[in-house]
Amino acid sequence: MVAITEEDCTGCDLCIPFCPFEALLPLAENTREKGKRPVIVVEKNCVGCLSCIGSCPTGALFEIPIPVNSKTSPLMNPSSQFLTETVERFSKQAISWPKPKN
Ligand code: SF4
Ligand code: SF4
Repeated sequence: MVAITEEDCTGCDLCIPFCPFEALLPLAENTREKGKRPVIVVEKNCVGCLSCIGSCPTGALFEIPIPVNSKTSPLMNPSSQFLTETVERFSKQAISWPKPKN
C-alpha cells in the first residue's frame, strides 16, 4: 500500500490519474496557510498495486509493507474521516493520463 508524506505533497494532482482505484483524492478543504490542498490516500480504496508510486515529482508517495497476517489497512491514519473532492476522470474536462512525449 502507499502513503503520502503530507509536507512533501504540493497538491499538484499528477498522481491522481495513475490510480485505477480512485484511492488518491484531494482534500475537500485546504487547511494550509499557503499553497494547494494536499492529496491523500483513501485507504479503503488502495489495493497496493503501486501503479502510482513513481508518479510523484516530489517523491511524496512511499510504499508501506503489509504485515503477513494483516486483515486491516496498515495505513493507520483513518483518512476516510476527511472529506475529499470528487475528481472527474472520464470526460473532456477530466483529469487524465499525461500524453506520452515523442
Ligand atoms: S503527485 Fe505527489 S505532490 Fe503531486 S499531488 Fe500527488 S502526492 Fe502530492
Ligand atoms: S497503490 Fe494502487 S490503489 Fe493504492 S493509491 Fe497507488 S495506484 Fe491507487
